[in-house]
Amino acid sequence: MRLKSIKLAGFKSFVDPTAVHFPSNMSAVVGPNGCGKSNIIDAVRWVMGESSAKNLRGESMADVIFNGSGNRQPVGQASIELVFDNSDGGVGGEYASYAEIGIRRQVTRDGQSEYFLNGTKCRRRDITDIFLGTGLGPRSYAIIEQGMISRLIESKPEELRVFIEEAAGISKYKERRRETESR
Ligand code: ATP
Ligand code: MG
Repeated sequence: MRLKSIKLAGFKSFVDPTAVHFPSNMSAVVGPNGCGKSNIIDAVRWVMGESSAKNLRGESMADVIFNGSGNRQPVGQASIELVFDNSDGGVGGEYASYAEIGIRRQVTRDGQSEYFLNGTKCRRRDITDIFLGTGLGPRSYAIIEQGMISRLIESKPEELRVFIEEAAGISKYKERRRETESR
């Protein structure tokens, strides 16, 4: 499974609809300070279901919506779609037959988030479920940001275990067990 492209609209500094393509297995985003590089990573995390505004460098969820600039009015909603190439069947189960998986999240100023999977409205859980055990997901090790390595080194054994279980692919089974037990 590979991230093919990101479509952004109204998200942080990306007010106009913008598509960022990742044509190969290795891509680099370069540009001057403040041009929006980190905003792209925030976008990925946000669609994966990040629910903490702080982790997206904001105060409230509405901070991800373009809030205006010198000559542009703020907009009312933000929308991001991540398009994954799934021709290797990386996302299995009922989605294994999809060659492409499009995951979209949108939020309005009142804080209402909606999620879509290949165009069909779904729950946040459906999205986090897909990525559970793949190494992706909002707080997974797939996104390594400044300070994360030292956080990992200094983490307590039980915190470290979360990463190891995700890498070993067992977190999804633990989650299912937790759910079954709570029914
Ligand atoms: P650096 O090289 O310094 O890390 P960067 O390319 O990672 O920079 P970002 O942090 O992605 O830059 O982008 C910061 C820009 O995004 C700032 O100009 C900031 O004003 C703008 N920005 C963030 N949130 C919003 C928002 N809600 N509305 C409009 N602009 C926003
Ligand atoms: Mg940055």
